[in-house]
Amino acid sequence: MRFCRYRRANGQLGEGIERDGSIVPLEQLDSTLPPHLRDWMTLGEALPERLAKLDSAAAIEEPVRLLAPVPHPEKIICVGLNYRDHAIETGAVPPTEPVIFSKLSSTIVGPDDPIILPQLSDRVDFEAELVVVLGSTCRDVEEAEAMQHVFGYCCGHDVSARDWQKEHCGGQWLMGKSFDTFAPLGPYVVHKSLVPEPGNLAIEMRIGDEVMQRSRTNELIFSIPTLISFLSKIVTLRPGDLIFTGTPAGVGAARTPPRFLQPGDHCQVTIESLGTLRNRCVAHDSAEAEQWRKATA
Ligand code: MG
Repeated sequence: MRFCRYRRANGQLGEGIERDGSIVPLEQLDSTLPPHLRDWMTLGEALPERLAKLDSAAAIEEPVRLLAPVPHPEKIICVGLNYRDHAIETGAVPPTEPVIFSKLSSTIVGPDDPIILPQLSDRVDFEAELVVVLGSTCRDVEEAEAMQHVFGYCCGHDVSARDWQKEHCGGQWLMGKSFDTFAPLGPYVVHKSLVPEPGNLAIEMRIGDEVMQRSRTNELIFSIPTLISFLSKIVTLRPGDLIFTGTPAGVGAARTPPRFLQPGDHCQVTIESLGTLRNRCVAHDSAEAEQWRKATA
């Protein structure tokens, strides 16, 4: 199951499941449940039963605009320097304990939304990431039980203003990681039943036709169960919380010469089994940026 949120041509918002390129609204599958992915996440083992009508349920006929599949997570937890080759390219020693930071939830945008390059930064960088979507409340779990609390996975882009990440705000990363539109997410949350080996997926970032990052999630220093267990001993994780698991080598700041995002760049994050997340960079004073601000005011 590939879950999504969408906007219909008439402006109506909804949540559904992708089937053969069309979207089946959740309410078509079970009108007794709220039509929200957050509620469906908590079904656990009862989920397949609720999906039994998927083959016969009516799909939306007209094209819809996909939105970020998880719009307002309670937490976006991010892992820094979690691919050995990326840690080395930044000049850091590979960490012996997870490097954890956060992005504000107002950063989230969906597939095909613009990445607005802020006026305040001229060093905006790209980071393709596997994102884990939590499905149940999780506190103080061991690694062996950690994966029970995963709902699914999606592609994420941890857009990062390097100047603000490192040279402002006392060296705290939060603001450099939290400019508006700095967390594209999607196109779907793919249920874990369709991703049997999340720790061994091909991951890639392209800008235009050029491959900038290419790796596999088996290069993670701290695995998904290790991260969930580590985090759950500090904070209570809840359904819909997101974990950005880190980015592989090839980011713009580590290149010679550096390659930062420019207006017009088409970014594509592709992860095996999860699809491709596409977003175009626009200038802060562009018509597209203004349109996005109006639509989200
Ligand atoms: Mg990152």
